[in-house]
Amino acid sequence: MPQTLAQMRFNCAKARQRMATARAQHWAFGAFNLDDEPTLLAVAAAAKKMNAPVLVEVSHGEVSDIGLDNIRDLVDNTKQAYGVEMYINLDHSPSVEAAKDGIEAGFEFIHIDVSQADHNASDETIIEATKEVVAYARLTGALVESEPHYFGGSSDLFKDKIDYELIRQTFSTPEGAKAFVEATGIDTFAAAIGNLHGKYPVPKILDLKLLEQIRNALDCNISLHGGSGTPGHYFKDAVKIGVSKININSDMRFAYRTELDKILKENPEEISVAKLVTKYVIPVVSKVVESKLKDFNSAGKAII
Ligand SMILES: [Zn+2]
Repeated sequence: MPQTLAQMRFNCAKARQRMATARAQHWAFGAFNLDDEPTLLAVAAAAKKMNAPVLVEVSHGEVSDIGLDNIRDLVDNTKQAYGVEMYINLDHSPSVEAAKDGIEAGFEFIHIDVSQADHNASDETIIEATKEVVAYARLTGALVESEPHYFGGSSDLFKDKIDYELIRQTFSTPEGAKAFVEATGIDTFAAAIGNLHGKYPVPKILDLKLLEQIRNALDCNISLHGGSGTPGHYFKDAVKIGVSKININSDMRFAYRTELDKILKENPEEISVAKLVTKYVIPVVSKVVESKLKDFNSAGKAII
């Protein structure tokens, strides 16, 4: 059933207050990609076991596949069935219209990323689009997240090593971050400090000194995208510094795919893939989520 505006406002107000608490208490919300119902159940099971608050997130592909209202209902039903603290993030919404649709569907977190659709979008275009979403989000109180330019990588498996010299050119700067937050009024700044979308053959390296400088320059929340393939100690330090939201996608997809391949091979007679996914894949993906929740220091922090 669709939420009423009053319910949306209540949920968004709680999400906003909880982000402030996370920042003050030095823990971060894990934002886990929802590919399908099994991944949602894997996140819910981990959140329940660890008593951790979580975000599930969908980007444009999942929104097209599942539908905004179906996602809202799926999450609300699961949240209730598991008794967990869970919110939804619209990740990388490619246009102001897509972001507005997410706000109207009652998503508590909205990430507007016009440079995803157009990597060469001008600073002005990005700022204007972000401002429009921030203004529209007042309808429900949803938190708006953005960044000043295109953020690299994609949620895939990469064979190449990471060229840090090249990536360094796209890192956030404290001055740039401050100017962008002031120009747009966003709630959460998506920092680029060595985090990168996708999974690579080498571990990622986060520039924690730079993160500290950005933290000192800003008065809003900070998020990290592209968290997969990052050694846990970086996350532990990043949440101490003051990151409040960390996105994870590829590590879950990799575990899902690897386990599914293995189990299909071992069970050639079973024609119900769904049964195998429920029995074998969900617990494996759930373990990935659990390990991140520990790194993010969010275990034991849920308020139902
Ligand atoms: Zn992202």
